[in-house]
Amino acid sequence: MYYTSTRDKSVRVTASEAITKGISPDGGLFVPTEIPKISMDFIKELIPLSYIERAKRVLGLYLTDFTADEIAYCVEGAYKQGKFSSDKVSPLYKLADGEYILELWRGPTCAFKDMALQLLPYLLTTASNKTLKDTEIVILVATSGDTGKAALEGFKDVPNTKILVFYPVDGVSPMQKLQMTTQEGGNVGVCAIEGNFDDAQSGVKAIFTDRDIEKKFRENGLAFSSANSINWGRLVPQIVYYISAYCDMVESGAVSLGSPVNIVVPTGNFGNILAAFYAKEMGVPVKTLVCASNANNVLTDFLKTGTYNKNREFYCTVSPSMDILISSNLERLLFHLCGEDDATVKNWMRQLSEDGKYTVTGDVLEKIKSLFAAGFCDDNATKQTIFEIFNGYGYLCDTHTAVALNVYKNYKACTGDNTPAVIASTANPYKFSASVLSAISEKIKSENEFDMVEELFEKSGEPVPPQLATLKGKSPRFTNVCSKENMKRVVFDMLGI
Ligand SMILES: *Cc1c(COP(=O)(O)O)cnc(C)c1O
Repeated sequence: MYYTSTRDKSVRVTASEAITKGISPDGGLFVPTEIPKISMDFIKELIPLSYIERAKRVLGLYLTDFTADEIAYCVEGAYKQGKFSSDKVSPLYKLADGEYILELWRGPTCAFKDMALQLLPYLLTTASNKTLKDTEIVILVATSGDTGKAALEGFKDVPNTKILVFYPVDGVSPMQKLQMTTQEGGNVGVCAIEGNFDDAQSGVKAIFTDRDIEKKFRENGLAFSSANSINWGRLVPQIVYYISAYCDMVESGAVSLGSPVNIVVPTGNFGNILAAFYAKEMGVPVKTLVCASNANNVLTDFLKTGTYNKNREFYCTVSPSMDILISSNLERLLFHLCGEDDATVKNWMRQLSEDGKYTVTGDVLEKIKSLFAAGFCDDNATKQTIFEIFNGYGYLCDTHTAVALNVYKNYKACTGDNTPAVIASTANPYKFSASVLSAISEKIKSENEFDMVEELFEKSGEPVPPQLATLKGKSPRFTNVCSKENMKRVVFDMLGI
């Protein structure tokens, strides 16, 4: 199987090249030239298997230039016993008849990004062994919170890699900050930037394209790569869990083999729901993909009207990982739905960068409407949902998952569609303790986030993940703060060049 670019169909690369390059030189994203199909027999064979064995089978369909041994090495390393707090890696929780929560946050950092970022380092180092011999890979990340920690945890002590994370000094929560600054591992670095997230991001981009740095890197046997969510190596692990969830639905008797499910996803950059789209295209029986947004409802409008317009107010919400106005992975969906017309995609993306908007019509819009339903809710409704789910079912969910549950409830009420649903849950509630606590308590006693974790435990009785419980009182390992101008120096110092 080969991969091409959404903006230039003459591009033809292997999976390894797509993963090591991250993005196509024309600015497009790598997509498979053909989406592999699976049969009901294939799904039936997966049902008795463990998550790891299911992952090997599914990834084998996409990473065709990896040997079976290489795929086994990658998957076994990423999801081995003890890394995730469930033997099933991403277990299904039955909330009510026909409503199943897919818990994607059982990994080391308690957010769904672990599902991909535990595997990516293995895919990247295996791929780069094929394409760039004798090179050490340097991962640079600018983060507003969750991605930085998940990437650090994924790349920690992975041979032949180094990772350096930059975060805005006042732009992350105290919990997120301590998660990053206490990071262990011999190949990791963390540095705060005087500035906001955009400053950190543009600083990292400038380093990526700096000629002097590139030369110095080459002389020292180093090469940059990215752990960004547009890398195909972050998307492909996510396809696995939707196929695995369908297997679990059949195994538990929630649906019979071949009967459809709906999939509901709290969406930001459109990566997670795009993985569900690939699973559907491959042949998993999925009726409707429900795209849930917070007050930043640019995707709701797009999926309903065909007009994508980012020229609107940006809201900081209680579900911050979905506070996004440019959902990069949407470009891949558009490419598949418009008959792989690279010129058209390129034109839409040019309009987006020049005018902040574009409109799709006709056939493409019809396809979107037949595949997707969309909705959004504000912070009040998000917190109200956390309260209702906790009181009604005794289940404590985080703010992002609550957006999905709220949108799903409205979808069901409006359409009467009772198809059994898989609802993606993207973070452990303790990761967003302050908001979750305020949703279920009238008065909060605690003054800081770490005390709120304990207070939320007293109130809910839900076990606190040990990696969050032990953070309080840990002393940070990385305390340096640098100016934007000094980021280059920090990179050189860390690499000793
Ligand atoms: C990143 C993130 C999302 C959004 O996922 P996308 O793939 O960007 O749509 C939702 N919830 C949480 C907790 C996240 O960290």
